[in-house]
Amino acid sequence: MARYTGPVCRLCRREGKKLFLKGDRCYSDKCAVGRRQSVPGQHGKSRKKVSEYGTQLRAKQTARRYYGVMENQMLKYFDMAERMPGKTGENLLSILERRLDNVVYRLGFAASRKEARQLVRHGHYTLNGKKANIPSILVKAGDVVSVAEGSRNSDKIKLVTEANASRPVPQWLDADKNQLTAKVVRLPAREDVDMDIEEQQIVEFYSK
Ligand code: SF4
Repeated sequence: MARYTGPVCRLCRREGKKLFLKGDRCYSDKCAVGRRQSVPGQHGKSRKKVSEYGTQLRAKQTARRYYGVMENQMLKYFDMAERMPGKTGENLLSILERRLDNVVYRLGFAASRKEARQLVRHGHYTLNGKKANIPSILVKAGDVVSVAEGSRNSDKIKLVTEANASRPVPQWLDADKNQLTAKVVRLPAREDVDMDIEEQQIVEFYSK
């Protein structure tokens, strides 16, 4: 599947906020958002007024970049969200949160969503006891996500789980960090999403 492979800090500068795409570096003085305030590109310093459409577009791009999903996947999620009962914007965020790569990141089993996606692809995690190497799998209530038995002694997995062990886990996941496993106790709600995302703007963007 197509994937953005350019410099990721540029994406944060474009959105004017930290998207936490690089793990530890995002929490350090090296973060580009703090060091360079301007939007990247030739006209970055001169851009000022943002139209209504521009605001909606930025909201959608911010969410897409937080979760590392491409446009066609985002559209698919929006269609799903529209067909679900309740508010479309909140449904959309819940779907994005339920992606396996996001769950792995939320559990502190990877430093960033990007790293989580790569580790999932390499088969380091299981879903309900079975190897799961598709980052876009959506977890359900009752599912159990674990570090695969054969990966527990891997230097990479040890390093990453130890380094991120203190990261708070959202309440919709019940994690056992010693056993490197977690249960999805319920589906994520709006209040479980702690990122700066304006979901209503995304709904308006796709409803045009
Ligand atoms: Fe974004 Fe992290 Fe780069 Fe900062 S260090 S600009 S938060 S990816």
